[in-house]
Amino acid sequence: MARLNEGKPQAIVVLGPGALETAKRIQARYPDAAIHGLASRVKADVTYAELSMHLRELYASNTPIIALCAAGIVIRCLAPLLVDKTVEPPVLAVAEDGSAVVPLLGGLGGVNVMAREIAAALQVAPAITTSGELRFGTCLLNPPAGYVLADIEHGKRFVSDLLAGGTTRIEGDAPWLNQVELPRSDDADHAIRISPYKSDDSRELMVHSRSVVVCVNELSPDDPIVERIRHVLLEAKISPMSVAAMLAPATLMTSAQLTEAAHTLDVPLRFGTLPEGFETQTPHDRDIAIAIAPGIVDVQMLGQARGMLTVIGLGPGSVDLMVSAAKHALSSADDILGYETYVRMAGPFKPHQTLHCTDNREEMKRARHAFELASTGRRVVVVSSGDPGVFAMAAAVLEALDESQSNEAWSSVDLNIVPGVSAAMATAARSGAPLGHDFCMLSLSDNLKPWTIIETRLRLAAQADLVMAFYNPVSRARPWQLDRALELVREYRGGTTTVVLGRNIGRPGETLTTTTLEHLRSDQVDMRTMVIIGSSTTRSFPRGDGNGVWAYTPRWYE
Ligand code: SAH
Repeated sequence: MARLNEGKPQAIVVLGPGALETAKRIQARYPDAAIHGLASRVKADVTYAELSMHLRELYASNTPIIALCAAGIVIRCLAPLLVDKTVEPPVLAVAEDGSAVVPLLGGLGGVNVMAREIAAALQVAPAITTSGELRFGTCLLNPPAGYVLADIEHGKRFVSDLLAGGTTRIEGDAPWLNQVELPRSDDADHAIRISPYKSDDSRELMVHSRSVVVCVNELSPDDPIVERIRHVLLEAKISPMSVAAMLAPATLMTSAQLTEAAHTLDVPLRFGTLPEGFETQTPHDRDIAIAIAPGIVDVQMLGQARGMLTVIGLGPGSVDLMVSAAKHALSSADDILGYETYVRMAGPFKPHQTLHCTDNREEMKRARHAFELASTGRRVVVVSSGDPGVFAMAAAVLEALDESQSNEAWSSVDLNIVPGVSAAMATAARSGAPLGHDFCMLSLSDNLKPWTIIETRLRLAAQADLVMAFYNPVSRARPWQLDRALELVREYRGGTTTVVLGRNIGRPGETLTTTTLEHLRSDQVDMRTMVIIGSSTTRSFPRGDGNGVWAYTPRWYE
């Protein structure tokens, strides 16, 4: 229980732009926290459509909540869930202007600790309302990061014993208790023991220090590795709560079994060799070793994590058209790479995130740079607009990997591609359903392919009566290509063919034009335009609100 909240990043929830400045000050204190904003009102790391539903979801998933709104609103939203005591994350209300910090729920999840931290960051006094006698309760039952209380129920009894006049010794190193006026006595009958080992003594308050590293040296297919680790810990009388990390040789980096095991045991997985300063125990199980540090383990000092490279699509522009897997990848990234315009679109960023903006033409260089960064254990995101697999970075990233197949560090990277809403889909949706029947996507750019191929494809697509979506229709360096393409298409399609032009769809200044092939002029089109040329069956009709037409291609064929 005490372990659940540890490490789970806080959600800083805002309703409008007025709270953003305070939210950012809190985020500077908790760099892993994400700002959640009401989609219709504010640009944030995560958006939501409705406050009470969102707060309830966060609460039920045991996410610490810092809500920048009136305490009463938060209480009303969460009230229906309060009877269920299985989860109780810290919940705080903070005044939009940062003038008040009120801990509301999660006394045992460290809400007062958070209230003090946030208040310190905002330079105000926290509104702590729990009575003074909980003085050592807060410190004993909420040890700082790196320490875990073994049993909360036992902890509560222990605190009552002390409040009833009991005395205690401290066995082990508990620096955070130095400032607490505990009723100490060397011959006390109670003891607070800080140790990775288990204890059955009911007069002892066990606080486990995260000082143990489980080293897995070998793994066979179908290895019941989790059971083996549990067994080894049991034999050594070490609490699973004391495990700070699993460590394995870099050769096991791609093992799904090991990843799964670390997930099940809820500990970080690192790769490399054990640094000095640990006392190692070799249990009967020869593939597993237990290493114990004198204090808590700084996981960052243990080799490296498996690097991650995620290629995402931002969608056409607006945040509400970005898939949540892409938002998630962005919020947990260490490095973000891409063409400057797109990287800017992917913000706002957190202070620790590094941006690597490059020119649009440097795709292969960018892809290699992404692997270099990821192979050191960093979480890297490469951004494209729309869908990353449509005339964009995903293919460049795979090409770089394909070229370097012998590079083990690169091939060990956890590579994922997250789809996005491509410009053709976004434009089609705005205009109706012009891609409702067979269609093709073509890039009119002859930068990376000969123009003759483009002409052949245009002719064949036109002959096949496919709807065509043109990407990269024109640019300053390619002035005549669109006119030539239209000339070809007009050989096969009538002048009344429906044409849809979407410019800056999902971005400021978006425009949508529905016209016909005979009226289409190339000066209506620029490099921010998606051109959809209908088939012989594509049609349009006036919208009910009088604002233009709906265009669609029926699903059937005559
Ligand atoms: N990966 C992107 C396409 C990159 S090619 C995607 O899937 O959408 C760039 C071309 O896409 C532009 O020249 C333009 O034709 C089109 N495009 C990209 N974003 C657009 C937008 N917001 N509105 C209209 N067209 C867009």
